[in-house]
Amino acid sequence: MRERLFHSVTHTTFLLLALATNVSGATAAHSATAHWTVVTQPARLVNGAPVLFRVTAPKPVRTLSANWLGHEIAFSFDADHKSWFALAGVSLETKPGAYPIDLHAETSSATSAGQAISFEKQIRVQHQSYPRHVVLTVPGRYTAPSPEDLHQIEQDKETKAEAFKTLSPEREWKGSFAAPVTAEISDVFGAERVFNGSVQSTHFGLDFRVPGGTSVAAVNSGRVILARPLFYEGNFVVIDHGQGLLTLYLHLSSFLVKEGDDVSKGQPIGLSGGTGRATGPHLHLALRWQGVYLDPQALLKLNLP
Ligand SMILES: [Zn+2]
Repeated sequence: MRERLFHSVTHTTFLLLALATNVSGATAAHSATAHWTVVTQPARLVNGAPVLFRVTAPKPVRTLSANWLGHEIAFSFDADHKSWFALAGVSLETKPGAYPIDLHAETSSATSAGQAISFEKQIRVQHQSYPRHVVLTVPGRYTAPSPEDLHQIEQDKETKAEAFKTLSPEREWKGSFAAPVTAEISDVFGAERVFNGSVQSTHFGLDFRVPGGTSVAAVNSGRVILARPLFYEGNFVVIDHGQGLLTLYLHLSSFLVKEGDDVSKGQPIGLSGGTGRATGPHLHLALRWQGVYLDPQALLKLNLP
């Protein structure tokens, strides 16, 4: 009798377990399709750093965009990961706090126009401090430019503004970004510098300690939108990676690409040098997203689709 009871209980427990497994399985499947998910990489966001947003919508959608920190962000769908991705960034000046991302999408429908759906999530930005008061010495014309130099500086501003106007809205980058040279870092992004004891400037890039003549590679695929000498930048290459993302290579000794060229990740774009406002030969790499300079070192650490 006792033995029969035991069997009966075991059987019931088994049935209950099977039922519970089924129920939780159904709930998981339901939640995967019925809710928005918004994930950032890195998980901890700071001022001055780029961020990858990964989003899934509750229904299949054909477009996805967002507003965040005053920027319009266009997402692209990645079929391998069944997710929408966009690279964005937080300016150096952004104060710590929570900033809502407003996502808006249009559902895909075979029979009718899509339905507009939206979602908001608070994204927390934490404080990052950067080095202060790095003292540097450069030739005098770079801190006290002549009238002719000032004229060229003005022309350079127009050249850059013109080039930055027409950018690819499509994503041209693919996969993680790769360092342009193999070398140690000689100065980090965000450092407050003083040139020749008088001119203050924020270091909006990352310096690699390379001698002149070192091959410099494109950090990802894109299109060359500038390849010409400028006053401060020296021989200057700018690559448009799409979605508002640019990388800038300064102080080159020579060019290996021209404006309009399509480049792939790892392709040599020039040789390093010390042209323009430089203390000596090195590579200055800058990252610009929708007019905001971001830390290239943080971009190189991201594991991207
Ligand atoms: Zn630099």
